[in-house]
Amino acid sequence: MTNDTVLASERSARIAAEKALADAERDIEKLQRRLREGHDAEIVRSSAISDNRIWRWLDTLGDGFAGFDSSHRLVAANATYQRLLATAGSVGIGSRYEDIADALLNLNIVDIEGTDPEDWRQMIAERWQKPRIPDITIRLRNGKYIKIADRRTPQGDIVSLAVDVTKLMQIWAGVEAIPDGFVIYDRDERLVLCNQRYKEIYNESAAAITPGSSFREILEHGLRRGQYADAVGCEDEWLDKRLAEHRRASNIVEQKLTDGRWLRILEKSTPDGGRVGLRVDISEQKAQQAALEEARVQAEAANRAKSAFLANMSHELRTPMNGVMGMADILCETKLTDEQRLYAETIRNSGESLLSLLNDVLDLSKIEAEKLSLRPEPFDLEKTIHEVVMLMRGNAIRKGLELYIDYDMFQPTVFTGDRGRIRQILTNLIGNAVKFTDRGHVLIRVVGFEADTPGHQQIHITVEDTGIGIASDMQAHVFGEFNQVEDVETRRFQGTGLGLSITKKLVSMMDGEIWLDSEKGKGSCFGIRLTLPIAKESQKTPALRDFSGSSLLVVDDQEVNLTILERQLAPSGAKVACRKSAAEALADLHSGKVFDLVITDNLMPDTDGLELAQQIRNDLPELPILMLTSDPSILRQPNAQINIDAILQKPTLRVKLHDAVATLLHPSEDTEQKQIQDSADTDATPMRILAAEDNRTNRLVFEKLLKDLNVELTFVENGQQAVDAFQERTPDIIFMDVSMPGMDGKTATRIIREMEQSRNAPSTPVIALTAHALPGDDVALLAAGMNAYLTKPLRKQDVIQTLRTYGPKKRATLIQNSSAYATAAADRKNTG
Ligand code: ADP
Repeated sequence: MTNDTVLASERSARIAAEKALADAERDIEKLQRRLREGHDAEIVRSSAISDNRIWRWLDTLGDGFAGFDSSHRLVAANATYQRLLATAGSVGIGSRYEDIADALLNLNIVDIEGTDPEDWRQMIAERWQKPRIPDITIRLRNGKYIKIADRRTPQGDIVSLAVDVTKLMQIWAGVEAIPDGFVIYDRDERLVLCNQRYKEIYNESAAAITPGSSFREILEHGLRRGQYADAVGCEDEWLDKRLAEHRRASNIVEQKLTDGRWLRILEKSTPDGGRVGLRVDISEQKAQQAALEEARVQAEAANRAKSAFLANMSHELRTPMNGVMGMADILCETKLTDEQRLYAETIRNSGESLLSLLNDVLDLSKIEAEKLSLRPEPFDLEKTIHEVVMLMRGNAIRKGLELYIDYDMFQPTVFTGDRGRIRQILTNLIGNAVKFTDRGHVLIRVVGFEADTPGHQQIHITVEDTGIGIASDMQAHVFGEFNQVEDVETRRFQGTGLGLSITKKLVSMMDGEIWLDSEKGKGSCFGIRLTLPIAKESQKTPALRDFSGSSLLVVDDQEVNLTILERQLAPSGAKVACRKSAAEALADLHSGKVFDLVITDNLMPDTDGLELAQQIRNDLPELPILMLTSDPSILRQPNAQINIDAILQKPTLRVKLHDAVATLLHPSEDTEQKQIQDSADTDATPMRILAAEDNRTNRLVFEKLLKDLNVELTFVENGQQAVDAFQERTPDIIFMDVSMPGMDGKTATRIIREMEQSRNAPSTPVIALTAHALPGDDVALLAAGMNAYLTKPLRKQDVIQTLRTYGPKKRATLIQNSSAYATAAADRKNTG
């Protein structure tokens, strides 16, 4: 039976009993009236009928009913009364009320719950002395609870009603056991019942919390005693709001009391339109919440302090590193004994490791402090991959590894993304692949898919190696901070274990994914998936050449490379024949097949590329030969220049390959173009560079970095001097330290920009030199009118790249001859 039904049946039983009691009282009164009025005969008759009927009715009731005369003697009792208060025959009709109570006590029927028996007896006796007899509930030893309601008739008789309220008392016990305040209001907002806890919680309004009081009265009572913290000073509004909440009874309300306690109020409507509610003391939770919030604020402040500290430290550490690495770099280029070279190179290499560690720690702390923001801009993905691969080339060549790039032919190349961070990801993955591979190859494959968002491309980049591989139980581990695979094999590799964790975080900042397939001993394949907007510059795939009608013979012993070359060349319309050895290629040529161009790898087992070229020359002197090699120094070998028409460094950008093939297939058009370019280069005057730098060591490093280049370098030591020098003679490019005594770099740049505007002169590129690498710094630098920035310690390659990008175009190629083209073809044709 549910609590509701128990309550309902209890209630109807009680109502029936009370009604019977009232009827009986009325009957007795009626009899007395009639007696007074002299209708004795009629009364006797009707009373006889009435007695029987009444007692039959009363016997059927579930409640006990009894009548006592004015001297407290039991006159009559129904069956239930006798059963409920059964005293095993020791009392009966004629027994006094007090005797019944005694019997109950002596026979151990009633459980007086620790009260003194004398006190109990006295309490029982005193009840009946009172003009209006109060109800009592007694507990019996058998566990039952009986509520006794006694009423006095005008003649002094007493009628007694005994109701079994055991179920009700059990419900009450449950309600009292609830650790929270429990309350029921009826549909007229009057208190029906509440537990003790409810009164304790609202201790200020406890006096008003009585059944029948209205919710408003109870609230007003508490308001007068200033119980509610939020209500102070706006009691009326508060009352209206609270009543409205109570009526709505749908949301959870938090309430603060003036003594500092916090309550959570939960109210729900009952089916009869009332409200049942709980009041939960959440002071402790609130205190914990406040402590957590406080801790969070403190942690955030500490984190900010940490990241500022790290940024400053990195500034402080990078500045001397500039001296160490720059000077070591320069020292390595001087004439040294073997021993000295070993020392100098060790200094340089250790400097490089320290710097990369510094950068990793700084990146990690920036990501963790959520200070790292991505700066999307249009960039060429294929070129970026190529640049990273070129940087890794040195290590790969030393280990005899092949590096391949397989960039999906039909995939655009210019996307909008954070080029620097994507480059960092690629550097980590490709760097690891080269580091952990002793023989074989590293293949970077890029494929694209149309993304769900229009104008976007889903790009999969995989970096596959044939290295030591990673055991499956270690594959998740390597993405954690400072985590490395610790075994005999990996112990010989240096590293911090930070790279992959930074990479993973960066990829997820770009909403991408990273995964790993690897087999120990066989190799690893790291993959990333990014969805990037296709930049306007790259709405379609790069314009590739049309070689239809031409027939190309491609020779490479590596299957992967042959496939890549075929994929790169086939879309141009050329017929591509792939051969895996010099012997196969020669067999084709000797069988009379006609080719317009031979593209060959250099390093091949049996016959290498140079030997193949030599043999082709003997029979087919006019057939152009393009050599692909990881090591362009082979040009220095005897006859190389004569036998090879052009050379390209591997891996090759698609565009470069197509350009070279075009030059060789149609030499007249492209050579002419190149000659014009060359003559322009040779005429060039040195590039004028103005560098503002207050630190003497840094000036020295900068000077040494540029020493082989065709430049005219002027130094100044602060911003004011830079402005003066600029005014005197406009340089081609300015390198500007940011923090200098007196006028700083940003102010100087601003003044220079103003001067240019007032003169209507073209803007001179200003490159900031900074040791700070905090996000937002670049924005401030660009806002000051600077074009780009370089972070110290400066690297020769970065400075050269900057001169290429920002220096005057016509002299750009003069900076350093890094063109991989050999002009052998043109030379040979011109001279021969
Ligand atoms: P680091 O290379 O500085 O140790 P990373 O976070 O880049 O740090 O790599 C963590 C570890 O994952 C490496 O130490 C190595 O054990 C393993 N690992 C990463 N890439 C490869 C790979 N291509 N082949 C084998 N093991 C790898």
